[in-house]
Amino acid sequence: MNKKDILQIFIDIYSNKYKVYYNSIISEKYNYFFLVKDNQKKYLAVVGKPEMVEKFEGSTPEEKKIGKEELLVKICYLNHHNLSVLREIFPHLNPSFCGLKPSFGTGDRLGIATPAHLQAFQGKDIFPILAQQSVREMARTERNWQKVLDDTIWGCFEAGYIGPFGADADHVKDIKELKEAADCGYRMFTLDPSDFIRNDIKKLGKQELDQLYIQIPNSKEIKKLYLGKSYKVNGQELILDEKSLNEITLTYSEALKHVVKCYEFLKGYKKDNFDLEISVDETPTVTSPLAHLFIVLELQRKGVNFQNIALHFLGDWQKGIEYIGNVKEFAKEFSLHAAIAKNIGGYKLSLHTGSDKFSVYPIFTQETEGLCHIKTAGTTWLEEVKVVAMKAPALYRGIHRFALKNFEKDRASYNLTTDLSRIPDIDTIADDELVNLFKQNDSRQLIHITYGSILRAKNDEGKYIFKDRIYKVLFQYEENHYRELSNHIKRHLELLISF
Ligand SMILES: [Zn+2]
Repeated sequence: MNKKDILQIFIDIYSNKYKVYYNSIISEKYNYFFLVKDNQKKYLAVVGKPEMVEKFEGSTPEEKKIGKEELLVKICYLNHHNLSVLREIFPHLNPSFCGLKPSFGTGDRLGIATPAHLQAFQGKDIFPILAQQSVREMARTERNWQKVLDDTIWGCFEAGYIGPFGADADHVKDIKELKEAADCGYRMFTLDPSDFIRNDIKKLGKQELDQLYIQIPNSKEIKKLYLGKSYKVNGQELILDEKSLNEITLTYSEALKHVVKCYEFLKGYKKDNFDLEISVDETPTVTSPLAHLFIVLELQRKGVNFQNIALHFLGDWQKGIEYIGNVKEFAKEFSLHAAIAKNIGGYKLSLHTGSDKFSVYPIFTQETEGLCHIKTAGTTWLEEVKVVAMKAPALYRGIHRFALKNFEKDRASYNLTTDLSRIPDIDTIADDELVNLFKQNDSRQLIHITYGSILRAKNDEGKYIFKDRIYKVLFQYEENHYRELSNHIKRHLELLISF
């Protein structure tokens, strides 16, 4: 019997009770696995030998003897246990190492976007990092490492995807979190040492700087290695003079120490190879080309094998909207960063807050010649809420009003120039025009930064006000959800394939 026969028999048995995801079916000897849904939920359907079927948790198996192989049919839950069994049978369902291939991260806060993301990646030679969530995002969405990864893998299974994909434990700040993510099977770790980066250095006078500098344990060694050394990059000479070396060392030395500690831990703990990203993007100061040079040389000298580095690049990088700033100036400074990366070699430049930064993508990919990684997350959430606005306008209106109330509180952790007074009064907008709000920066950011409050909001009875209804709408209008989202991510990816 082949896969087609199995699906036909399944449909005959259950008539119209379940919709089958045809692309999802995979087999191992006489055992077949595929995804189905009724009008409430998705399930894993297992058709196979009794000893296989009994490994999975679900309803009691139907005693349907199929063909002369006498196979059983069981409707199983999309839970962690069942996924772990599947991951053992089918190794392609485990996250892979990416290395220096061009890559793109698609953070998925609701955990239902992977099939749409995969549609967008189709036919493109870009490594997908499909699971990508930061510790902060997980707190705001009440998810955890395991749940984020499981949701992604179920998404891969649904889409019948057999290619490699990455899983990025994003913005991890300590070893405890690293260990938890590693235990779940993450293969990429983004270390965020920003708690150890000093941001007050530029304000200090020379005397204070000198005094602080000699307190650094290896300050003499650093001086010997770097002081007065010149690096020829892109026809320009970069020189670490005393002032810049002091400032940069003082700003980053504790952070680098922390990175080395975390790396040593991972190296000893992870049995398979892993991608490591160092992110210094979430700092108030722009990373200068000299600082970039110093950080990378120091990391390599300490033997840290990293694949990506995320710098704080010039300009205003706000969530879910276009780049704000002078693109030409960005291009000029970025070409230096790209040249440094090329000269030193062995790593990629990573761009965070990459959602909707269409104007800088071509520069980013061309200058790096594809040695680049980009992260997005908020844009997926915005597309999903856009579908809610299209299909359930009353629900969207509730979300919008709630977001307005929570905006001032939620904006605290972001750098934003949002002006709520530019958002038209929602009562004056017709249902079919709500979608236009997603073309305007202020209303995009309104919905973008309040995602945690929206998803966690509960009524007096302790029930979610919006979360369950958002999932319900996206479940009911899954085709629209996948189409809108994959088209939008495609717009991003199409700008990246010119290297
Ligand atoms: Zn970041």
